[in-house]
Amino acid sequence: MANIDYNNLKTNYETSVQKVEMGLWEKIYYPEVIRGLLLTTGHFVRNMTVHIAHVFGLARNKRGAVTYQYPEERRPIHRRYRGRHRLMKKPDGSERCTACMLCETICPTQCISIIPQEHPDPAVEKHPASYEIDILRCCFCGYCVEACPCDAIRMDTQKVEIANWDRTRMVYDKEYLMTDITGPGAPPENDPPLWWLQ
Ligand code: SF4
Ligand code: SF4
Repeated sequence: MANIDYNNLKTNYETSVQKVEMGLWEKIYYPEVIRGLLLTTGHFVRNMTVHIAHVFGLARNKRGAVTYQYPEERRPIHRRYRGRHRLMKKPDGSERCTACMLCETICPTQCISIIPQEHPDPAVEKHPASYEIDILRCCFCGYCVEACPCDAIRMDTQKVEIANWDRTRMVYDKEYLMTDITGPGAPPENDPPLWWLQ
């Protein structure tokens, strides 16, 4: 194998950054400063006018600013975004997880803890007596979802508000992970979601 001299590597590809020459008007400097101030002031006056109009119930179809008014207004999240985990359920409401331990094994931050148990139904080998995710250690890599052989864990919840005042409440247990999510951030209803297969 050829030895590469990393200290003398030559980069002869063209840069994508094109230098733009300044015109006389920009070189004078002050006219551009004044133009910037007028532009900013114009946006401020326009947005303030729209906000005041909203207070009086007017111009409802106009936005007062380009920023999202969180938390009332949530920024759209891409459907492939890896949000907070959820454990999938069988039609009878029991967990789909078979406690095979693959997700716990592959998790790079070792934040999944599973205690397997014999299933009361002899047709099913195991199920998790306990399934916990320490979300403070999770790096949201999605390996657990990829490793699961029975689609028992997903990160399609679009839940991004996972902060808490209490660290002990950041360890999600099986019951919490199996709770149906409604309202903003709820995952798609179709199972399996068609977009996942696209
Ligand atoms: S997303 Fe990654 S770090 Fe988080 S629980 Fe799954 S495997 Fe572990
Ligand atoms: S990989 Fe899937 S089935 Fe196996 S323990 Fe994890 S969630 Fe359960």
